[in-house]
Amino acid sequence: MNTAAQSAGVLSFEDAYEVVREHCRQILKAEGWPSEEVLLMQAVGRVLAEPVKADRDFPPFARATRDGFAVHAGDLARGLTTFRVVGQVRAGDTYDLPVASGEAVEIMTGAAVPAGADAVVMVEYTERKSVPEIDRKGREGTQSEEYKVRAGNANDDQILDIAGHEKPKRAEKLTEELVEIQRTVAAGENVVPPGAEARIGQELLPRGARLGPAQIALAAAAGRASLKVYRKPRVAILSTGDELVEVAEKPGPSQIRNSNSYSLAALVAECGGEPVQLPIAPDEEGKLTELIQEGLKADMLLLSGGVSMGKFDLVEQALKSLGAQFFFTGALIQPGKPVVFGEVGSIPFFGLPGNPVSVMVTFELFARQMVEALSGAGPSRLKSASAKLKKDFKTKTGLTRFLPAIVSGGLYDPEVEVVPWQGSGDMLAAARANCYLVVPPDREKLVKGEMVTVVMR
Ligand code: AMP
Ligand code: MG
Repeated sequence: MNTAAQSAGVLSFEDAYEVVREHCRQILKAEGWPSEEVLLMQAVGRVLAEPVKADRDFPPFARATRDGFAVHAGDLARGLTTFRVVGQVRAGDTYDLPVASGEAVEIMTGAAVPAGADAVVMVEYTERKSVPEIDRKGREGTQSEEYKVRAGNANDDQILDIAGHEKPKRAEKLTEELVEIQRTVAAGENVVPPGAEARIGQELLPRGARLGPAQIALAAAAGRASLKVYRKPRVAILSTGDELVEVAEKPGPSQIRNSNSYSLAALVAECGGEPVQLPIAPDEEGKLTELIQEGLKADMLLLSGGVSMGKFDLVEQALKSLGAQFFFTGALIQPGKPVVFGEVGSIPFFGLPGNPVSVMVTFELFARQMVEALSGAGPSRLKSASAKLKKDFKTKTGLTRFLPAIVSGGLYDPEVEVVPWQGSGDMLAAARANCYLVVPPDREKLVKGEMVTVVMR
């Protein structure tokens, strides 16, 4: 056993996880990280470097949430059932006139509820009645003028009486259409008042928000064509091992291709980092140390392989020679037990065991949150869920296991089964899986039908 492994402990999964999390919190306290302004669609998946504020009230007007009729709730409360339909307002339109008692304005979802009306009755609870025209003679104006709906500015079409006073158009209207309303509504029903979601100037998205589809939509709604986001952290990836050749090379009979650099690069990119793939490091301390130094120029370093107890597992030694501080040198998990976490100066590193499944599991459990923290986002929790176990599962106690598994089944009855595998080198098992089944360290057996925890990927 090398000295580095002795100086820092092998922790339980929970303790190791918490150690990484605490480092993430410390990192997030730092100020003044570099940021850049990018177009909205380039901001997808990035992290906000400054808050997005409401440029107007959300919603900006009293918004109807149903198709139906805007009315005075009080009219219905006092027993009125038949209303005059005085107009129609579609989404994007403005209905200019105040709605008087006894009147209803047909309204569509998303439209602005006219002044005066305080509730919307769903169209399902109404019945239109056509009434013969009355007293149309001698009136000026056509029906379409009387049923005035207008987009935009309300003040460009006023009606004046003989004396030149402004006269509400309502006074000119004929009672040609009625609607019978079969239910009462409470004031405010099916109406979202202006500013109910956010007031002008209010923070819609905080600094540090990860920009997924919902956040991008909110920024778009606030008129932000571009956003200030943090620069992506550069994450160096260094695979070690004399057995490795690059993907484009032809492996000898006992050689394998360096696939871990690719799983890690894909994972880093997925959680908002910029992967920097370094050349393969041999199991030779001088060259390995050189390449580690190269990797430490990035914001974070991920190493694959060389952290087990073998004679040629030199990663911890090389790191130690560069003044590394180790926070743990193993975790009681399977796969991935030899995982190492520490820093050289202020640069965090993880030494991940080289087996292809181990590398992915340990990234998921530990390194992901560090990449997220370095990109300015609060550490996200593991994406755990529950599912019903499909078959009995036997194991040994002592380690928390994260085994490649498949969740299937419906919305309310997810089921999970472990993917048969040849151990932590089995990349095919990893590629078939869509989650990891979690086996707690004190369980020897999981029983068919019990609810178990999975970590989704
Ligand atoms: P190590 O952790 O260095 O003992 O590596 C354990 C095993 O993982 C090796 O024997 C290889 O079979 C495999 N391995 C290590 N590094 C890689 C890599 N970069 N890509 C694919 N497989 C790897
Ligand atoms: Mg190795």
